Amino acid sequence: MEAPVQDDTKTANDLSPIQAQRSWDRQAEDNVIDRLERIGLIAPKGEVDKALETVVNNLEVTNNIDLDPDVRCRVMTTTTLESYTVGHTIVLSRGLIDVLPDEASLATIIAHELSHAILGHRLDSSLAFFDQLLIEDKETFRHFGFQRTPEEEDAANKKAAELLANALKNPQLAKSWQLANASLFFQALQTRQKEIPNLISAHLGDRVPVIGALRTSLPTDQKQDPQMITALPIGGRVKLDPWNDKLDLIKSKPIGAVAEREKMPFEVTPFMPYLTRYTTEAAKPIAASATTPTDPKTGEAAPGKP
Ligand SMILES: [Zn+2]
Repeated sequence: MEAPVQDDTKTANDLSPIQAQRSWDRQAEDNVIDRLERIGLIAPKGEVDKALETVVNNLEVTNNIDLDPDVRCRVMTTTTLESYTVGHTIVLSRGLIDVLPDEASLATIIAHELSHAILGHRLDSSLAFFDQLLIEDKETFRHFGFQRTPEEEDAANKKAAELLANALKNPQLAKSWQLANASLFFQALQTRQKEIPNLISAHLGDRVPVIGALRTSLPTDQKQDPQMITALPIGGRVKLDPWNDKLDLIKSKPIGAVAEREKMPFEVTPFMPYLTRYTTEAAKPIAASATTPTDPKTGEAAPGKP
């Protein structure tokens, strides 16, 4: 007779009910984000996500919060000003990151979204099932909606104020996060909202002025610095590579004093076309001189040119 098989697994591989629920939620979250990335609404993972995750990390550490699964950040490629949370994934639109004047205002938005994750405001977990994602691309905005109820918004705003207050007890963060400036941004957005209705109409998440409630809990500015910029123009911070949807932070040289006229809050950054010849090698800018362009491979003059 054979000896009965003994299960001598020492490690705990079983999921507790809570872990099982978390893994369903994560599956739903991954499905939604993958889907949005495939149709180009969410940019591939990159440098900007990491910058946002640093802010999340600062908030978590100063508040002794360790969420499981980890909180991730992604960026929507759209210019409308909006943000939302899909499970533990915080999504900000490119337009919103563009207009935020400083890290304090960014931290305020992220604190709000992180609060939804902390408070366990859930995503519909039926999205964990593949058939829930069998929709046409053009139906995406109608099918997905990550708006929160007014009650959830209120709760998140309260929690966010708490997170920010604790973060500011850290002397380093208190120095780099000037919340009085952030408060001016939300003020500017509120006063301009009638002029920019399309820019602030969120497609998937919540529009930013909802944070108006949060604004009142922020300190207001004592004296206004004339050099201070309350909001940046669209296209002022993040650049989008239209060939692959990749996002990058714009690196430009610091500029001197800024005239009032040169501030372009919520406007579109003027652009200079920068043309390069398409090659499979690294593209080099075309010199504006009259020299005959030569083919890099053969050294002969390019066709069509003398
Ligand atoms: Zn919210």
